[in-house]
Amino acid sequence: MSPRSHRRVGPSHRAALLPTSLSAVLTAVLSALLLASAPAPASAQVAAEATRIDAQQMLEDLGALAHDSMEGRRTGTPGNERARQMLLRAFDDRGIAPVNGDRTHSFSFIGRQDEATYEGLNILGMIEGTVHPDRYIVLTAHYDHLGVQDGQIYNGADDNASGTAAILAIGEWLRRNPPRHSIVLAALDAEEMGLQGARAFIADPPVPLDRIVMNVNLDMVSRSEAEELYAAGTYHYPFLTPLVEEVAARSSITLLMGHDSPALPPGDDWTMASDHGPFHQVGIPFIYFGVEDHPGYHDPSDTVENITPGFYVSAVETILDFVIQADRRGERILESRGTSP
Ligand SMILES: [Zn+2]
Repeated sequence: MSPRSHRRVGPSHRAALLPTSLSAVLTAVLSALLLASAPAPASAQVAAEATRIDAQQMLEDLGALAHDSMEGRRTGTPGNERARQMLLRAFDDRGIAPVNGDRTHSFSFIGRQDEATYEGLNILGMIEGTVHPDRYIVLTAHYDHLGVQDGQIYNGADDNASGTAAILAIGEWLRRNPPRHSIVLAALDAEEMGLQGARAFIADPPVPLDRIVMNVNLDMVSRSEAEELYAAGTYHYPFLTPLVEEVAARSSITLLMGHDSPALPPGDDWTMASDHGPFHQVGIPFIYFGVEDHPGYHDPSDTVENITPGFYVSAVETILDFVIQADRRGERILESRGTSP
């Protein structure tokens, strides 16, 4: 996918100091963590405290999901099973509750290419709302990727270990800062095989569809040399534009709107390009956060070494900011959606 039509939403005021110094520090942290030997340097701890999310833990999670031992996490493989086990532990370790008693949601489907039957598994968590516990903002990120092809591992660091580690980090912050609406976290399976995990979520939802305020989907949020993140969806849901603009104005990276108009050439319209698509198909508003295409897209070079950690942390802080704003205005979003429970 390559960009052709988008609108810059706000002046990009990159804080000259923080992103650059943070990315240098975090790169140091990351290589230290990957070496899994050296403890994080003191300055890294200081830098991490500047963020709301636990940046160091998030980078560790990304590194673990994109490690060779996960063998690219293709649905139906041992590598995918190892990723599932890691995520099940991570949700428990962070004290994130199941959704109405369910931590997992299994589903099966026929592979488009090989017509084999696959067993997928979505991994779920919920932070209960303090004002509207029976209304839900659904945060999604797929944890599967392309596996091993021609003997090469497709590690999928940006696609989508980044989004999966990010919803864990956001979930952990929200657990410590309870939201007004309930937040459902869904690590989805089999996105690379046709958005199968999201389709299963909509077909057999763990919470009533008419009580979902909106979907916030994260897919590829850790790699951008230009420090640009897209928010797609406002073309279809223009009432979300002011929220994105407000968040963009506060962000230390450039948040752009676009990639959601049917007038765009194929590939440039991301409306059905990831797990927000099935939510949109049943009229649930969405914002999809993702970066523009880079050389690592669906390539073995999509590895931890090639992400841009400083941008990644700032991008996730920006997405957290959006979730907080959506939570504050959930009633109005539901009204705009046309369902008023
Ligand atoms: Zn993806």
